[in-house]
This record gives sequence, structure tokens and C-alpha cells, in this order.
Amino acid sequence: MHEPSDTSPATLEHTLRSVFGIHGFRPHQREIVEHVVAGGDAFVLMPTGGGKSLCYQLPALHRQGTAIVVSPLISLMKDQVDALCGNGVAAACLNSSLSAEDASDVVRELRSGGLDLLYVAPERLMLPGFLEILRAVPISLIAIDEAHCVSQWGHDFRPEYVRLGELRELFPDVPLVALTATADDQTREDVRQRLHIANAPVFSAGFDRPNIRYTVAEKRAAPQQLERFIAQHPTDSGIVYCLSRKRVEQVAERLQRSGVRAAAYHAGLPSAERARVQEAFSRDDVHVVVATVAFGMGIDKPDVRFVVHYDMPKNIEGYYQETGRAGRDGLPAEALLLFGMQDVATARGLIERGGTPEQKRVELHKLSAMTAFAEATTCRRRVLLGYFGESLDGECGNCDVCIDPPELYDATVDAQKALSAVYRLDERFGVGHVIDVLVGASTEKVAKWGHDSLSVFGVGADRSRDEWTSVIRQLIHHGYLHQDIADYSALKLLPSARGVLRAEVELRFAKPRARVRAEKKPARSVALVGADVDEELFERLRELRREIAAEQKVPAYVVFSDRTLADMAATKPATPSEFLDVHGVGEAKLERYGAVFMQAIGGSG
Ligand code: ADP
Ligand code: ZN
Repeated sequence: MHEPSDTSPATLEHTLRSVFGIHGFRPHQREIVEHVVAGGDAFVLMPTGGGKSLCYQLPALHRQGTAIVVSPLISLMKDQVDALCGNGVAAACLNSSLSAEDASDVVRELRSGGLDLLYVAPERLMLPGFLEILRAVPISLIAIDEAHCVSQWGHDFRPEYVRLGELRELFPDVPLVALTATADDQTREDVRQRLHIANAPVFSAGFDRPNIRYTVAEKRAAPQQLERFIAQHPTDSGIVYCLSRKRVEQVAERLQRSGVRAAAYHAGLPSAERARVQEAFSRDDVHVVVATVAFGMGIDKPDVRFVVHYDMPKNIEGYYQETGRAGRDGLPAEALLLFGMQDVATARGLIERGGTPEQKRVELHKLSAMTAFAEATTCRRRVLLGYFGESLDGECGNCDVCIDPPELYDATVDAQKALSAVYRLDERFGVGHVIDVLVGASTEKVAKWGHDSLSVFGVGADRSRDEWTSVIRQLIHHGYLHQDIADYSALKLLPSARGVLRAEVELRFAKPRARVRAEKKPARSVALVGADVDEELFERLRELRREIAAEQKVPAYVVFSDRTLADMAATKPATPSEFLDVHGVGEAKLERYGAVFMQAIGGSG
């Protein structure tokens, strides 16, 4: 167990370096750590991947007693405990996955004062017997991870979190640290009230994740789009989110057939299979996990290089949380959203079918914010941060809009044609049929209704179906058309359409685009670490890591992160002290892996 020491910055920095192998704080981390070490409560607001864990792990090593960490997901606990143990920290967890015997071992360890950190599930923590035990041992701090789960306003409410509100009273002298990536003010305030830390300072680290490149592509032939995208990331770890279990299985199967090391993951699979997939992913045996968003996933893997949304999420909170699982290590990562109008209609339909009027109102509002993000023709990061109440100076330069701004064109005539078609079709048909009529397709439905005799039949034959889809989508987005879910998604004219039909207004729309461009992106994750990274060596070190992880049955990143390997492949350390200078190498890692990695590096000449 680590000896608690004073709080002078030099000591904190020393622990940061020697235990975690980290060579400097990120914004706000030091402030938070110092505040908590000094015994203060804190409310920490940081985006996923922002580095929340350090805000309680480091104080835990600088205060007397054991730190209690409340975490909602068993898999997350396990990953964190593995990573801590890998760094030589005395950590353990208590949850329903442990046998009675293992659990009582952990409790014995706790009682003997041998634990720096103990991770517990909330329901376990609040058992009267367990609280008794805790009150009898020195507690250094209590950290509540994913604290938004305590609020019914949040998007992820967990009933077992409600009782955590009692902690403040039960442990009046123990610092309480609540951590979340939640966006909206209402939830934040609610969490602070419920946990009785309304007076604690709020540390907000900002929501920008500059290393994530946001790209939205129009969904056309989604399977091919996905395959092309993944082909650009042959050995990278990635997650593909789909909205339904069935879709998850189809997509995973298709990827497997095309030779990708992919696996499916959703709540309907047996738990043994889920555990297998998660473990294989963390050990880099599986490269791509295709999963539903309904499932929390508990992904704490720092080197996820891409997150693809095969279907559009229902709100920006979800999108942000899911894309936030990419690039936690700070290296370049990609977030790709395949966006189709049908997805919006489906999501809207689901929302309108259930819930109270108030819930519907909130959810529809969130959906329309999500849609606006997907359809944005200005910097995506600006739109995202704006949603979270932050502003960005200038353009980000790292989203599809910044990199390749959409070309605008005079869409007045196209708009007139599309709106006329809707009008001639008596506002009774959906997008597909309207486009059939515009391009002059001879379908069964056209024949049945005699629509080939309409004046608008074939007036749009000079454009492709995709182009018409884009025009109609923008007409909806700009408030000229409405898709009536209550009437089989029929397109209806809105009052403003009249001005367009009478040629009183001019419209400028974005030219449609769909392709996921291959040329403009950095080919490899190492590209941004520095030109001096020896790529061949990097891949060899990755392989070595995979072997060690398999042998020791731990996740690959518990051995070393991508960032660490890239750093090694650039600096090629040859002595223990050079090895300690590598990002992510503390004393425990030097001792455990130094020799074998330096040998591999030395062998490269
Ligand atoms: P989250 O806020 O999502 O809980 P984590 O605590 O898991 O994020 O941290 C995400 C990643 O960032 C981890 O790989 C961690 O090692 C790394 N990290 C945290 N703080 C720093 C730092 N000051 N410098 C470099 N890497 C850091
Ligand atoms: Zn941008």
C-alpha cells in the first residue's frame, strides 16, 4: 500500500510519474486532485476520455485509508482494477460477479487496511452490513463515477443509485467526489442536490475532444460504406453501433465474411458470449465490435481508433458518449455517422408511440438537435460544443465540414420540382414514391395510381435518386416540407413552400455527398504522434503486446497503450531510465515489461 504523504505538487507529480507513467496533468486535474487531497468535496464534469479516473485515483494514494469508488458497470470496474494492479496499486472490486469466497477475501483485505482503492457496485455498497464494515475502517474518499445515474433527468437513470444520497450523512468527514460527462444543467443540478454536495465546487474541464475527427456521411449503401471505411483501419480497434440486435448480427456477420476480425455484442446474447467478446476486444483479438447502444458496453479501452454509427442515435448526449469511447489515449481517432432520413423517421415514430407528452416533447427536441447536427453545413465541433453550452473560437479544422466544406448551389429549380411533385401527389406519398415520380421510374405503384400521366412525371430525370433524396432532406430541414409520421411518412407542404413554388425565393442548398473519403485522412493512428514513429516497429510492438496480454490474460492496454507503444517506436529507449521517460511507463511497468520491450526495440537496429 502506498504511504500517504503531503500534498505538495512535487509529490503529486512524482506519484503521477512513478505510478501512472504520466508526465503532466491535463487542464483542471491538478486543481481537482489538490482540492480532494485537502479533504474537499468536488463535482467533476469532464467528457468521456477526459481523464476523470485520475481525479480520484491520485488522491487515493495521497490520503490515509481506502478510497471507495462507486461504479455502475461490472466490466468497467474490472478494467480499472486490472489497470491499477498493472501499475502496482493495491486495488480490488466487490460486485455480483465475485464468488462468496473471493468477496470475503476482498473484505478481509479491506479490514486489514491493505487496499488503496476498492470499487463497489452501488447496491452492494448500500447493504447495511457493508456500511457497518466501512464505518469501521479508515476511508480516504468516496468517488461516485457516472454520477448522472442518480438523476431521473439524466439519460441513464439507475434506481440503485438513488440511495447514494445517504452517503453524505453517513460519512460526514470523508471527501465525496462525483464525476460525470453529463451535458445539461438540469441534470447537473439535480445530481448535486441528490448527493448533497450542492455547495461543492464544480470543476468543468470542457467538452472538446480535439483528437476526434467527426464525419457525417449520407447513408446510401451502408454495408459498402462501412467496409470501405474499415478497410482504411486494418489493424485498428473500433466499435460500430447499430440500433437493433438484428442489425448488429447482420453487420457483424457481413464484416466477418469479408475477413474483418469482428464480433457482435448486444444484450440478447448469453453473458458468457458477451464476456468473451469484450475480453477478445480488450486483448486485440477482435478488432471491431458491432454493438447496440442500448447496451452500456463498459468500454474503457483507451486505444479505440474509430466509432461508427451505422444508425443515427436518438440524441446528442448518446452520440457524444459513444463517440467519446474513441481516442481516449489522445491519439487521432475517427467518429463516422452514417445518416439517412429514414433513420430520423424511424426514431420519431418510436418516440411518438410511447411515453408521457412531456417525455415526448423532450425526446423530440433532442432528436431534432441530433438531426440538425447531422445536417449541419457549418463546423460539426462548433455545433456539438454549442449544444453543451460551450463555444469554439474559429473553425476546428478536424471535421468533415472544415476539411471539405459542402459546395452550395442554386437549388431553386430543384426545390420547385420536388415541391410541385408533392403537391400533384396530393401530399399523400412518402419520399420514395415522390422520387420515383420525379425521375420517371415505371414502378408498380406508379402504374397503379396512373402517376405517369402527371405533368411532374420525369421532370427530374436529369438528377439521380441520391440527389433528389438530398434535395428533399434539405427541404425538410429548412422547413418547406414536413414528413407526417401519423400518415405513413407522407410528405406535406408547409406554408413557406408557397413562396418557393411562386418563384419568390431563391434557395441555396448543399450539394449532396456521400463517399467516405480515403485520401485525406492520416493513414495510421501513429501519423499524428510524430513523423519519427517507426511504423514497422510500432506494429511489432503491438504484436508483442498482444502475445503478452494473451499469456497473462489481461487486456492489451493493461500491458501498454497505443500511445505508449508509439512513443517507444519513436524514441527507441535502450536503458531503464530512457524507458521510464516513455509516456505510460511507471516503475511497476518498467520492472515487469522493460526488458522484453527494450529487447524487441534493440533488435530493430
Ligand atoms: P474518463 O474521463 O472517461 O474516465 P479516463 O480516466 O479513463 O477517462 O482517462 C482516459 C485516458 O486518458 C486514459 O488512458 C488515461 O491514462 C489518460 N490520461 C488521463 N490523464 C492523463 C494525463 N494527464 N496525461 C496523459 N494521459 C492521461
Ligand atoms: Zn470543424
